[in-house]
Amino acid sequence: MGLVTTRAVVLQTYRYSETSKILRLMTWDLGPCSALARGALRPRSRFGGLLEPFVEGEATFYSREGRDLHTLSGFELRRDRRGLDRSIELFTIASVLCELVMRLAPEHDDPALYRALTEGLDGLHARVREKAPAGLEYVWGVVNALGFRPEVERCVSCRRAIGVNRARFDFEAGGLRCGSCGPAGPKLDPEEVDTLRTLVSGGPADGRRANGRQARWAAEFIRHHVAEGAQLKSLPFLSRLGRPGS
Ligand SMILES: [Zn+2]
Repeated sequence: MGLVTTRAVVLQTYRYSETSKILRLMTWDLGPCSALARGALRPRSRFGGLLEPFVEGEATFYSREGRDLHTLSGFELRRDRRGLDRSIELFTIASVLCELVMRLAPEHDDPALYRALTEGLDGLHARVREKAPAGLEYVWGVVNALGFRPEVERCVSCRRAIGVNRARFDFEAGGLRCGSCGPAGPKLDPEEVDTLRTLVSGGPADGRRANGRQARWAAEFIRHHVAEGAQLKSLPFLSRLGRPGS
């Protein structure tokens, strides 16, 4: 394929040798890729310390057919989203978005998933200065783009509309279950069902309602229904959001 230039988001970085880094990228043109950034850790690297998670730019690399690791030759900054680590909530959610894409993106370009990822990271970054930031709708946005949108309107078992009766969130079945279809998963009151529907459709939900319980349910849904056995390191942190001391 030769030289490729494409928009790319840095999902994760690993140290490689004394001076280099390996980047996991989500690219617009090729989908997920890995690239070796030679010399990125040198003090006067041309990459200038930019190659950190959540950052987006125009990446140029040499791509060879049949090789998984490309060699990065340039990275021109488009979106500098550093600063997300000033909020534990935002950092956790941004990490979940990146890890979901890194572990579960298809091995080809996926414009809808790329957009869900970048809209999420931009939306989170815009909330850095808010007192009670939330952003669970972006987790659902990426889950939806991966093809795992939860069923929140009809019972996953009997298909009847979920009404005012207490619903349960049946993570393994992939959505809400009505009161008549037997217990599986935690109970939601009508307000919580409303909030979940808002978040799944792209939110935003009232910060008070988009609380730790909603974060835990998103984490459980991903664990049981989306990740299928893959261990995502960021999920336990998502589960703990909203608990005292976190
Ligand atoms: Zn039912």
